[in-house]
Amino acid sequence: MGRPRDKIRLAAMERGDSTYMGNPCYKGHSGKRYTCGGHCYECQQIKGPALAAEYRKTPAWKAYQKEYRAKYGKDPKNKERLREIQVRWYVKKYYNGDMEHYLHVQEDKAERRAEKAAHEAEVDFRRQLRKNR
Ligand SMILES: [Zn+2]
Repeated sequence: MGRPRDKIRLAAMERGDSTYMGNPCYKGHSGKRYTCGGHCYECQQIKGPALAAEYRKTPAWKAYQKEYRAKYGKDPKNKERLREIQVRWYVKKYYNGDMEHYLHVQEDKAERRAEKAAHEAEVDFRRQLRKNR
């Protein structure tokens, strides 16, 4: 009994370390392993997000999301919250997380929209005047 790598693992356990240096795994990773279970640390790092990404491609996940949104989004309070989450995601993706910049751009856009609407209303109004003359 008592393979050397188990001794290393036991020592790590006694120290309370969550990882230890054992044998390199079959994929050739460094040998950093979880004390609890002895699984290769790097393999787990790759596997976790990859598995999650795989799962998000399945119809089950999409159906769940749709149902969740339909149910959750009915409450106006939740609707606002979902919108907030969407905005935050958008800002993170396209504005580097710069919320102030995003809000500034939105204000600019709203202003331009208002100006355009006012201009169109004016043009319309003048057209009406000409017609009624
Ligand atoms: Zn590995």
